[in-house]
Amino acid sequence: MQGSFRRQPKFVFSWNWIKSFNLKDSQSNMIKIEEKEKLVMITSTVSDFCDSMGYCEHKIPFHIEGVKPPPSIETLQGTIAHEKEQEIEKEQFEFAPITQEELLDMTKNVEFAREEVNTRLLYPVRTGTKNILVLLHGRTDKILRNDKTLIVQDDKFPTNLKKYEDRIEPYDDQKLQALTYLNSKFTTDGSMDPNNWFEIPHDEKIWIIKIRDKSNENKPIKIFRGIQNDVMRKFLTDSIQRFALLVLGAEERKHHNVPGKCKPCRLFSQCQYRLE
Ligand code: SF4
Repeated sequence: MQGSFRRQPKFVFSWNWIKSFNLKDSQSNMIKIEEKEKLVMITSTVSDFCDSMGYCEHKIPFHIEGVKPPPSIETLQGTIAHEKEQEIEKEQFEFAPITQEELLDMTKNVEFAREEVNTRLLYPVRTGTKNILVLLHGRTDKILRNDKTLIVQDDKFPTNLKKYEDRIEPYDDQKLQALTYLNSKFTTDGSMDPNNWFEIPHDEKIWIIKIRDKSNENKPIKIFRGIQNDVMRKFLTDSIQRFALLVLGAEERKHHNVPGKCKPCRLFSQCQYRLE
């Protein structure tokens, strides 16, 4: 056993408390823990959080240590494909600045340029003796508001398209990523200062995940759509709470027990829990 904190109701945090942590240094691509007395700030990229809670909990120690194996060919090809989509958008559309009034006016549809918006999700977790604040920071492929609905669009460019043939919903890490973005605040200048983050007011939240074929002009081969309901919201908040406890070693990590998940894992050679 690694300890047993009992979950308790959330606590209320103040901006002054957040400012006392050095968030500028928390932008690195890893999970960081900063502790002051009984207050703990956990910062993580959205991708490390989703990788840990949607794919494999045994990745957490690697992300804390900042172990980053070289990117796979699939990741590199995905980056190129994302850049191509960005270029196409720049060629086809002209984006105009938006005013604060327009942003706050829910009757106005707004759309941000691809890859322009950084996301910041703060979520408080309370355990037996500690108040924990989890900050998940990332960047959306695309975010817009249409008909009072906040929409996050994410593009995936997998090499193995076959694994999507029979799927009727995205993988857990993909869902978590979209849900994290949908419940975040936003910044277009990469700021880690909560005073600089803005909201996009809306009534409903929707995610759209497009699986694209990079060998065929990035054409979508499958499009998943989902609305954030209570079940999805709980999936996100439960995942954040468990993530916080796992990062602090207050709960034991569970194995997925799926050898097929270990095989393509970039941590395979270093991981003592790998399944062959
Ligand atoms: S090798 Fe398997 S158990 Fe280890 S981190 Fe990767 S997926 Fe998880």
